[in-house]
Formats: sequence, structure tokens, C-alpha cells
Amino acid sequence: MATIDYDYKIDVIRDKIEEIGASNVILQFPEGLKVDAMDVADRISEVVDDVNIIIDADPCFGACDLADNKVNHHIDLVVHFAHTPLPIKTECPTLFIEAHSSADVEVPIKDALSSLDDDVKTIGLVTTTQHIHKLDEMISLIEDEGYIVKLDNGMGTSQAQVLGCNFTSIKNLDVDVIIYVGSGDFHALGVKLFTKKPVLLADPFTGKSRDIEAFYDKILRVRFARITKAKEAKSYGIIISSKKGQLRFDLAISLQNLIKKHGFKVKLLNMDYISPDRLLPFDLDAFVMTACPRIAIDDSAMYKKPVLTPGELEIVLGIRDWDDYQMDEIIIHDEQTWVMANFIIN
Ligand code: SF4
Repeated sequence: MATIDYDYKIDVIRDKIEEIGASNVILQFPEGLKVDAMDVADRISEVVDDVNIIIDADPCFGACDLADNKVNHHIDLVVHFAHTPLPIKTECPTLFIEAHSSADVEVPIKDALSSLDDDVKTIGLVTTTQHIHKLDEMISLIEDEGYIVKLDNGMGTSQAQVLGCNFTSIKNLDVDVIIYVGSGDFHALGVKLFTKKPVLLADPFTGKSRDIEAFYDKILRVRFARITKAKEAKSYGIIISSKKGQLRFDLAISLQNLIKKHGFKVKLLNMDYISPDRLLPFDLDAFVMTACPRIAIDDSAMYKKPVLTPGELEIVLGIRDWDDYQMDEIIIHDEQTWVMANFIIN
């Protein structure tokens, strides 16, 4: 059975095309939905006249990565599938068609609740875009067992929603335990790092729950090893993303100045698609990632040289304590400004 209950909303797309009189439309799909791209393009072409439908075949990782300035600005409309919008200023109209999962949340949540100690009274609840449409059901399931559920609005996210780069919805929760409903360890790890509370991952795709503690310990050991290795570095590359929602230019310049101040060589590297082979030509000892925060953590094993988050660089340079380790975040502040949270550097 499909786990994504996906309605491509062809009628909504047609109405938008007609409303703005678009001639050139680009479709953006995450990797898991690209297999449907040609069919969706055909279905749109059937309901509109004289419109060029372009499929963006490049990787697409999130709403931070919009195709609004591709094809040399010939695009009149971007249709971006599966992600919730971020308040980024776009160069042309962008229509977001979200993807919701049909996977059951009851079984994994009940599994998580069955593992709680008797003294647990309050539970923080967070989830991702895929499951957010079931938030009311999740709350009821937990409250029906006699617990108090606490939720918060994030900055740039909706209530109880976390992104891989934005954990603002959980930082102020005063609870005994947090239940994260979703499948990826990374989000649960972020929740744990920011709250230091017990975090249970309730996975709708497996129907099971698990404590994130062991994964948290493992990742911290890996990060400690990368930081230790980076302490030998004499030269750094600072990676700047050309993706609009991942671009932290001012941060990159601040990091460059900081590294220079500590007497090390540093180069700024602009990249769009970031991968280990693209770093090979550069004879540098370590890299600092100002693009998507997930890359340094999730893809760590793929890189031979240390790839650090900005906060980890601070630890390497001795201006942050290991005990104050935090996940990197990109938090939107207003329509045009991305601000950096949790860093000592201004
Ligand atoms: Fe996802 Fe990374 Fe983009 Fe944040 S920056 S939305 S974690 S791909």
C-alpha cells in the first residue's frame, strides 16, 4: 500500500496557470516523486493550451531549493511538490502542492505511550510536513490516555512542525517527554539536542516507536571525532550555497574572518549541488558548511575530510565548549532575511 496519499491537484495547477496567464511552467519534485513527473506533466498539458511544461530534473531537497530563477528567468510559474512553503521571496509565482502520508499514526503512538514511566504527565508533540494533517488525531490519542499534550508554534514553521533545519517549535516546551511522529532519526536527534529531554520516535511507516538515546550517543561520538580531527587543520573551505533558502552569505563571511583571525588559511566555495567529489580539487584540510545543516551530519561518512557545522567550528577554535554543542539551524526571520540561531559569532 502506498504510504504517500498524493493528490497532484491538477485542477489547482490549471487554475493558477490560467489566473496568471503563465506560458512557461516548471515542475519541481523531490526524488521520491520524480517517477510521476512525466505523467503529471502530461495531465497538466491536457487541461491547458499553449503552455510549456518543464520538468526540473535536478535534485530537490526542500522548499529552500526553489527553481524560480532557473532556465534564465523564462519561468512564469513554479509548481513545487511535497514541501510546505518557507517565507522566501521568490522571483516568480510559486505554487506549493504538499504531500501527506496516509500511514497510520495510532499504532506507533500507542507503542510509544506504552513504554512511558508512571511519573510522566506532560508530553511534547512534534512531527513533519508528511504527517502534520493528522495532528488533531495525534493529540487525541495522547490525551485519551490521560496525558497533557503541549505544542508550540515555530518561527517559519506551523504548530508542532519541525524541519531538518528548524527546531523552533520545541525549544520552549516544558514537558517530561517528547514524542516525535515521523520516520527520520535526524529530526528526532535535533529535538533531543535542543531539549535534552527523553525523545521517543513514533514511526508511522513501521508502526513502532523507539528511544532516540542510542542514536544520539552515536552521532555525538562521531561529531566529537570529526571535531578532534579538525583541530589539526591548517586550512578551511567555507561552503556557501547558491540555493536561495540555504544561502547564509553573512555567516560565511563572518566565519572566514574568524578563521583568518586564528591564523589559518581559508577559501570561500560557492556550490549548488554539494557532494564529496566536488570538493576533491581543493587542497584544504577541513570544510565548514553554511548550506543545509543536514549535510554535515547525515552525509558525514561520505566525506574523507571533516565537514563541520558553524557551531562545531566554534568548538574547534576554542570559542564554544563541547558541553554547549547544538544542532545547526537556518531560521527564517522575515520574507527576505535568514538569521542564524545559537551562534556566538555575530
Ligand atoms: Fe530541508 Fe536542508 Fe532545506 Fe532545511 S535547508 S528545508 S533541512 S533541505
